[in-house]
Amino acid sequence: MSPDIERLITLQQLDDAIEDARRKIAAHPQRLADADARLADAQARLDSARQRLKENQDAKRDLEKDAAVFQTRLSKYKDQLAAVKTNREYTAMQHEVAAANTELGSVEEKVLERMLEADTITADIKVAEAALAVEQKAINAEKAAMDQELVVVEKALAEASGKRTTLLAQMDPQVVKKFDQVAKFKKGIAMATATRDGLCGACHVRLRPHVFQQIRLNDTIIQCESCQRILYYVPPPAAPEPSVTHPS
Ligand SMILES: [Zn+2]
Repeated sequence: MSPDIERLITLQQLDDAIEDARRKIAAHPQRLADADARLADAQARLDSARQRLKENQDAKRDLEKDAAVFQTRLSKYKDQLAAVKTNREYTAMQHEVAAANTELGSVEEKVLERMLEADTITADIKVAEAALAVEQKAINAEKAAMDQELVVVEKALAEASGKRTTLLAQMDPQVVKKFDQVAKFKKGIAMATATRDGLCGACHVRLRPHVFQQIRLNDTIIQCESCQRILYYVPPPAAPEPSVTHPS
């Protein structure tokens, strides 16, 4: 293989590595933000359950105040009941007592409902607290892993950039220029392999037979007539040793 083509392949590999590293570095803040958003969701679910408990307790307190009002009214009626003089007054007072009792019963029933509801909400809070703790732990671990990945990626980027600079210094500027021109219009991919059946590996156009023959030699820079990428050929790996089957 010609040194030019060999260096072009290496240049493409370095560019791919650099592009990959840059993309990962650019995505890093969003990945952290996504993890934080998941934590915020878990916190919001807990806050919402705690808010429901607060509302439940406020409502229960109001109902208990109502119950106290009816109880005061009832004890007042009982005092008055002792003081009535006629049967008619007595019967009327009995009606008042019965009505107040009914209302008190209904309020007490609502207090009970709120208490049952509080049990459910308290259980919800426990679940949300546990979920938040699990999420917090998972997210801390994920963020630590992401930070470690970032260090590795930044190191890889620095290494690939250094190697690229060294490589460019060894290359023919005309060849580099050709590479850059194609890379610029092909999203950074200037190199393509010719497939074993004679197609451009990038745009899949069929190469003319004599062009394909030339590419297989890997000794001149040949561009695909359709996509302009610089083509090279990777010969198939040597056939593996035939496996011996042992008779059983
Ligand atoms: Zn092509």
